[in-house]
Amino acid sequence: TIGMLAIDTNGDIAGACTTSGMAYKVAGRVGDSPIIGAGLYVDNEVGGATATGVGEEVIRTVGSFLIVELMRQGKSPQEACEEGVKRIMKKNEGREDFQIGFLAINKQGETGGYCVHPGFTYREYTNNGHENQPVESFYKQQ
Ligand code: ASP
Repeated sequence: TIGMLAIDTNGDIAGACTTSGMAYKVAGRVGDSPIIGAGLYVDNEVGGATATGVGEEVIRTVGSFLIVELMRQGKSPQEACEEGVKRIMKKNEGREDFQIGFLAINKQGETGGYCVHPGFTYREYTNNGHENQPVESFYKQQ
């Protein structure tokens, strides 16, 4: 999945995601990416979130909606992404053979990202076109 979140100079937030689905998927399978609330969710009063990884697990937790609701309750984008990943991992105790990751942005333009090991990287771009360094974020079970 490729997920993108954007905020403009008015503080308006938008999001998009695209995916080819899981490798060797059953014909007709619907992943999380086309389901609003699962693979992508934006509430312009709060922020936006997008997910990558095993769509079934993201759908089960209504993952991107969850991240936005956690931000609504006061968590930072980073804290919300960590909580979302941890909830999924808790339901899959001992399993680390799949990938789950979330990205999030809030109304202040703060961003966060978190994922199951081995993780992924994401990039932040500023509106003046300069490319920032890639940000890496990993989740590791204790
Ligand atoms: N989330 C996608 C799916 O389950 C897979 C991916 O990350 O590309 O369909």
